[in-house]
Amino acid sequence: MIPQGPLSQKIFTVAKQYIPGGVNSPVRAFRNVGGEPFFVRRAAGSRIEDIDGKHYIDYIGSWGPNILGHAPVVITNTIHEVAKSGVSFGIPNMFEVEMARTICEWVPSVEKVRMCSSGTEATMSAIRLARGFTKRDYIVKFNGCYHGHSDSLLVAAGSGALTHGEPDSAGVPKSFAEKTIVLSYNDPEALETLFAARGEQIAAIIVESYPANAGLVFPKPGYLELLSSITKKHGALLIFDEVMTGFRLGKAGVQGLENLTPDLSCFGKVIGGGLPVGAFGGRAEVMDLLAPIGPVYQAGTLSGNPLAMAAGLAQLRELERRSGFARLESLGAHFENGLRQLLEAKGVPHRFNRVGSMFCLFFADRDIVNVDDVMKQDLEFFRKFFWGCLDKGIYLAPSPYETGFISLAHTEPDLDDTLTVFEEVLGEI
Ligand SMILES: *Cc1c(COP(=O)(O)O)cnc(C)c1O
Repeated sequence: MIPQGPLSQKIFTVAKQYIPGGVNSPVRAFRNVGGEPFFVRRAAGSRIEDIDGKHYIDYIGSWGPNILGHAPVVITNTIHEVAKSGVSFGIPNMFEVEMARTICEWVPSVEKVRMCSSGTEATMSAIRLARGFTKRDYIVKFNGCYHGHSDSLLVAAGSGALTHGEPDSAGVPKSFAEKTIVLSYNDPEALETLFAARGEQIAAIIVESYPANAGLVFPKPGYLELLSSITKKHGALLIFDEVMTGFRLGKAGVQGLENLTPDLSCFGKVIGGGLPVGAFGGRAEVMDLLAPIGPVYQAGTLSGNPLAMAAGLAQLRELERRSGFARLESLGAHFENGLRQLLEAKGVPHRFNRVGSMFCLFFADRDIVNVDDVMKQDLEFFRKFFWGCLDKGIYLAPSPYETGFISLAHTEPDLDDTLTVFEEVLGEI
């Protein structure tokens, strides 16, 4: 661990006095790497500056939303312009219609979509809708998949829930959690056994399209197809949580890459351009059960907020204009090639999982197919690596369970400079 700069230390002391743990979301506290966070002063492009004046190349991008990098002019200008006409109305505005149309055009499985203000709300509402549609109570999720922090879904979850060693939160009634059946990911037999026994009780399977909140893990060939066919066979719905992957890996997210048609999909992060956002959508027949035309209640004071919609639309347009997904893949491949060469030359046992601009480096000498494998990596080595990199101006997620993000603002020289730092740090561990 390295101590943060004096101003960060001072403010964190005050923060802890007034905010539980000093942070508004657990992983920001740096507890999993045994230290304290820095406070940001400003960020632009691929760079962050902390309040003590130290600069970092950032691989978190606000945990996914900032796919263009920090404070891109297209988004800051849009926010300035739109804000002049009002920042929230609680009355329909044209940006939410344009956002809905764009999502439905880009993601073929989505015929109708409802906006909300966070990924948590999106998955929570999709679960309620699936239960309302099927008139069944049970849902299936996978160990290590994180779907936000609503009661039904905070069971065997990833992300901050995992890093704090409390996969189940206090305050979630046992009777709620009992309606959530947790299976091991990438285990077809477990799925088949469960559905054979209890298929008619299950409202939905919810899955992170590519699990990316407990490391980054890929489905085995045929696994996602099995999720799709088994739900169809038993009259359950398949919910793809694409809050992280949606609009990051391509216009239609993982479902586009894998050519699959989930019943419902959840989005967030990138579609808000860095402002609070969530969305869930899918088959019109299911979506039309929502209030005000159906019996499933769902609402939000700030849902479809004009600033968030306009910022998100500006981000999507810019991605399209710059052929962003192809460029991100090429940046990702550049990083991967360099990193693999480096780690092999150094003889460091590792696995590196990457898709497009999302990556996760594991200090492990076994393949990573589920959260159990993720937990067995060399955590002490990760901690040393993390602090070494931070010291030299590379900001990786302060936890071995998070996915790294490359943005369109990163350049090949940024990535090469990062690899140079990696090499130095590995030499010092
Ligand atoms: C971030 C995330 C969420 C939760 O979104 P919030 O906006 O933080 O509530 C849900 N699912 C996945 C896959 C995520 O990565």
